Amino acid sequence: MDLSFSKEDEEYRREVRAWLRKNLPKRADDDEGGELTVADPERIARAKAWQRKLFDAGYVAIGWPKEHGGQGAGIVRQAILNEEMVLARAPAPIGMMGVQMLGPTLIALGTPEQKERFLPPILTADELWCQGYSEPGSGSDLASLKTRAEVDGDFFVVNGQKVWTSTAQFADWMFCLVRTDPQAPKHKGISYLLIDMRSPGITVRPLVQMTGQAGFNEVFFDNVRVPRKNLVGRLNEGWLVANATLSHERNMLASTTRTQQLMSDLLRLAKRRSRHGVSVLRDPVARQRLADLQIRVESMKYHSLKQLSDGIHGRSAGIGASVNKLVTTELNHDICAAALEILGSHAGLSRTSPHVEDRGVWPIDWMFTLGMIIGGGTSQIQKNIIAERGLGMPRGA
Ligand SMILES: Cc1cc2nc3c(=O)[nH]c(=O)nc-3n(C[C@H](O)[C@H](O)[C@H](O)COP(=O)(O)OP(=O)(O)OC[C@H]3O[C@@H](n4cnc5c(N)ncnc54)[C@H](O)[C@@H]3O)c2cc1C
Repeated sequence: MDLSFSKEDEEYRREVRAWLRKNLPKRADDDEGGELTVADPERIARAKAWQRKLFDAGYVAIGWPKEHGGQGAGIVRQAILNEEMVLARAPAPIGMMGVQMLGPTLIALGTPEQKERFLPPILTADELWCQGYSEPGSGSDLASLKTRAEVDGDFFVVNGQKVWTSTAQFADWMFCLVRTDPQAPKHKGISYLLIDMRSPGITVRPLVQMTGQAGFNEVFFDNVRVPRKNLVGRLNEGWLVANATLSHERNMLASTTRTQQLMSDLLRLAKRRSRHGVSVLRDPVARQRLADLQIRVESMKYHSLKQLSDGIHGRSAGIGASVNKLVTTELNHDICAAALEILGSHAGLSRTSPHVEDRGVWPIDWMFTLGMIIGGGTSQIQKNIIAERGLGMPRGA
């Protein structure tokens, strides 16, 4: 494993850092913690403008081929950009589901017309996407999904319900799994459709999470007509397409740079706080916990560098994405839990209190990071994948 960056890559890092220093948007009061909701149209407009600015500077989807609007950049440059964005505390592009999940899927498996129609507005955030996979009763066992799509001439007619659909309340489009052959074995009768969220027959009902924000939704389909040209991959072979998107989602959720940022925020907090008149950093129990977390962060950093190195040398990532998703999402939550313990009763202060620390983000991030352990495949499911595909253990019952 080679841990050094080339001169050119270091130069690229300097360029990105300088651009971010000059262009980073001023942080607005409502930009701290949690998710965007439909109640924040101004915040959404700001986030779209930020993605547009990043795109114009060549900093969105840099790994995509140039012919599709990317930079054709290798994994090292992508890692550098990601790291600099996190270090600068730059907001992530709002259209990440399009940029990191659907876009790469369409580039690999979409038709030329689909690429031409859908990729450009993904990059500029002119069209935002949501993911319609989960249904009531079909989460971990995703292939049991029941939302039906029947062929009617040049259209599919979709009926059913999705749930936990993040950002559906303001997304323009959904990439959606539907059952097109109810008689086939469950993995074989599924298709992957692109659905216009403004189609007649779609109802979106926001669900309030424990953060108090309505980040995800129920989505109902009542005879929704979807053009056949919006089918990605072959009819009834959507499971293959769905899994391509899922592997990109796991990578998106497992950002170790985000983990490093949370850890450095935690250390800053620990330096400022004291307990019974003694600095938290002098408390042996707190020190032990911080050291333990820091060790886990460092080992994940090297794990992701190893993955980077594997990618550069064309070695398969294997179960690496599942290991990353499992460990980083749990670690993020544990870091937030340590922050709440350090804050003690201050953790309960409202965000407008003059005594609140870090603008009150820690309790919200603690709740939000718990959701990330579940979303994109729960920890238990990642452990199953690691056990079966990585360690060769027999399938569970
Ligand atoms: C914040 C958040 C955002 C989300 N956003 C989206 C989105 O945008 N689009 C979308 O489609 N979905 C989304 N989801 C849904 C997410 O993908 C599902 O919640 C997840 O796949 C788990 O499914 P479930 O909730 O139905 O739980 P279940 O599958 O019912 O699982 C319940 C419990 O049983 C355990 N379990 C289930 N099967 C097994 C097994 N075989 N072995 C061991 N343990 C098992 C699980 O680990 C879990 O602890 C989101 C979820 C969250 C929390």
